[in-house]
Amino acid sequence: MKVLKFGGTSVGSVESMSSVKQIVESCHEPVIVVVSALGGITDRLIETARMAVVGGDGYESHFRAIVERHKAMVQQAVEPAKQLELLALIDPLLGELGNIFRGVSLIKDLSTKTLDTIVSYGERLSSLIVSRVIEGAVHYDARFFIKTSRQYGKHIVDFDETNKLVKRYFAELPRVAVVPGFIASDRITGDVTNLGRGGSDYTASILATALGASQLEIWTDVDGFMTADPRVINTAYVIEHLSFTEAMELCNFGAKVIYPPTIYPVFHKNIPILIKNTFNPSAPGTLISADHSHFEGKAIKGISSINDTCLITLSGMGMVGVIGINSRIFNTLARSGVSVFLVSQASSENNTTFAVRNADADVAVRVLREEFKGEMAVGEISSIEAEKELATVAIVGENMKHTPGIAGKLFNVLGRNGINVIACAQGASETNISFVIARDSLRKALNVIHDSFFLSESQVLNLFVAGVGTVGRDLLKQICKQQQRLLETKALQLRLVGIANSRKCLFDREGIDIEHGIELLDREGTPSSPQRLKDEIIAMNIFNSVFVDCTASPDIAALYRSLLDHNVSVVASNKIAASGSYDLYRELKQTARKRDVKYLFETNVGAGLPIINTINNLINSGDKILKIEAVVSGTLNYIFNVVSAEVPLSRAVRMAQEAGYSEPDPRIDLCGQDVIRKLVILAREAGYRVEQSDVEKHLFIPESYFTGSLDDFWRAIPDYDATFEAYRRQVAERGRVLRFVATLDHGKVEVGLREVDSAHPFYHLEGSNNVISITTERYREYPMVIKGYGAGAEVTAAGVFADIIGIANIR
Ligand code: ADP
Ligand code: ASP
Ligand code: MG
Repeated sequence: MKVLKFGGTSVGSVESMSSVKQIVESCHEPVIVVVSALGGITDRLIETARMAVVGGDGYESHFRAIVERHKAMVQQAVEPAKQLELLALIDPLLGELGNIFRGVSLIKDLSTKTLDTIVSYGERLSSLIVSRVIEGAVHYDARFFIKTSRQYGKHIVDFDETNKLVKRYFAELPRVAVVPGFIASDRITGDVTNLGRGGSDYTASILATALGASQLEIWTDVDGFMTADPRVINTAYVIEHLSFTEAMELCNFGAKVIYPPTIYPVFHKNIPILIKNTFNPSAPGTLISADHSHFEGKAIKGISSINDTCLITLSGMGMVGVIGINSRIFNTLARSGVSVFLVSQASSENNTTFAVRNADADVAVRVLREEFKGEMAVGEISSIEAEKELATVAIVGENMKHTPGIAGKLFNVLGRNGINVIACAQGASETNISFVIARDSLRKALNVIHDSFFLSESQVLNLFVAGVGTVGRDLLKQICKQQQRLLETKALQLRLVGIANSRKCLFDREGIDIEHGIELLDREGTPSSPQRLKDEIIAMNIFNSVFVDCTASPDIAALYRSLLDHNVSVVASNKIAASGSYDLYRELKQTARKRDVKYLFETNVGAGLPIINTINNLINSGDKILKIEAVVSGTLNYIFNVVSAEVPLSRAVRMAQEAGYSEPDPRIDLCGQDVIRKLVILAREAGYRVEQSDVEKHLFIPESYFTGSLDDFWRAIPDYDATFEAYRRQVAERGRVLRFVATLDHGKVEVGLREVDSAHPFYHLEGSNNVISITTERYREYPMVIKGYGAGAEVTAAGVFADIIGIANIR
């Protein structure tokens, strides 16, 4: 025989009732069907009781809704021929229930005993209905054979009595027996009691064990036991097989799918549990059994959590080495009915920390202060304090046993995401590591663990993109195009969780459609400001976050420090921060290192060319940069390439602007500022401490042209054409070309115009290309040269994209 338990949602609607009917009727052996109250009814009963106890008739409409729900179910789910007989059983029960509510409202008293009585009607009613839905089913009343006794104010199953009675009641098994779950009765008084919220699972387990069932099936509303709570982790998936130990560890820590006490009885008798979905019966479900398959490679099977956690800490030097302190702590708590679910004590023994539910915290502190009054008076124990608003997370898996590095990896990913572990515990059985964190970090912690232990099929990077001008727009296009491939080949999922320009911003932790991101921003965005961006990103507190700055704004660059400090990586095409004050540059790098996140800005120099990465690789492998010579202004190079006898300087500048190479204000390029910024970044990455003011400038347009407004500049610059053309002609006659070169030479930095002849590597440099030549101790005689497109939205966006992928650390 088998025991099948159907939860509240499984018996909550007419459609699900008909599924239940089909599932049970297709069994080819005797079955005991245990049912919960119709979905949501237990909560409704409790709510109605709470309304009644206030007095008056405010509760009546709630009660009427409960009556209607059951009557409607009878009318719609039960064959007409059986309805009258069923109503004859149900109506008196509903009548009794109405009287009890009336009594509560008149006396304005709701004792535990009365509430236990009230909630019992949920299962009493549902089981009667189910017994008339399934063909040939016989109804049993669990109060006759599930017996409890009181311990520490709780109802505990009396197994001796219960097993005896169950065997007697089911000495002869009908083909289908229907039993209300959850409810029981006190073995001495006979009063109705229950097994605790979610207790129908337990009823089913008790019956399966007492009768030696071949299997216990828990039919619910999900496809099986999942790697994490599917309401929090949307990538959670069904685990095919769990050992009893794994299931027990996960349930004890909040995986609601099975009520925790359910597992022990069947484990003890080695009866497997199968979790199935009433709404999708063909899904294979999850099998929980004794055999633990070592073949499933993953070290951890699942994660669960309790967000109701309070840590209590006893500290004091006088506790060190004293025998019996822990025994007194736990005895005192036990006497007050406080359950402790995590204990942690450092070997120095000068404090002991344990976790209890928030509701138990005040009692726990009070009784402990009382118990240790003497020790506190003489200072042997200095404090007994509670810290509330915490959450406990457990990672579980039998494969963790003897696998080094799991705890290391766990705490590492938490740290990298800015989650502070307040206490932790791992039993020597090594199947569970539990730790306590702030409650508001719970969602992030669960996501990051789920992601990093590859419980998820893919790794996620959550992107906030600021700036959707030419570079930002191209970046989104490239991500959109590449997204599917990255997912398929690298298991990397790029999720856009925020997008902003200077006017609007839009956030969505579930992900914004990248293809239509900019339209969505226009349509649905709300007013944007740098402060708002920072506040939202920090408040969203999402794991594996990357802030991508495709703006040129100093105000956005000013956010990096706080973002890095909150464990958000930064990828910037904006060069303001890296070329700003040296102290700021260093601070950003150090913050990133301290927080174990990345600050990447490869596109600050040479757009998509791998320049900064190359310099880093050289230095990290022990080389020393002696000299760098570079043409890093695409705009200036373009200008020198087009300027000729026919195209005067002023026209060439205009063409560079129109082609989108130059900054919107071309003076920033012409006065060398853009090159100076890039040189400063190169020098710093090469290991030199330099500021922009250290750079010596040799400009080719007199400073006076840069002083007025942009319009003044456009008006005045043609005046300089003739002078420049005369110079250019001389250079050309010497067989040379002009290049604007940035130089770092043993720490000395300089930018200026240089004539190069055809033997020089910078001579052939077409269009807006960049070239950089790096002389190092290893590359001394023949410097390393990197050359190619150095400007343009597409290559810059590609460089930003490469930095983003660099954060995921995939190859
Ligand atoms: P029932 O009424 O059938 O007893 P419950 O609501 O008690 O159902 O339990 C099923 C629910 O448990 C699921 O709908 C799901 O939201 C939640 N749940 C939490 N953690 C897990 C998990 N690890 N695996 C599956 N479900 C989980
Ligand atoms: N109906 C009870 C509850 O909601 C028992 C159960 O469904 O398992 O807690
Ligand atoms: Mg349940």
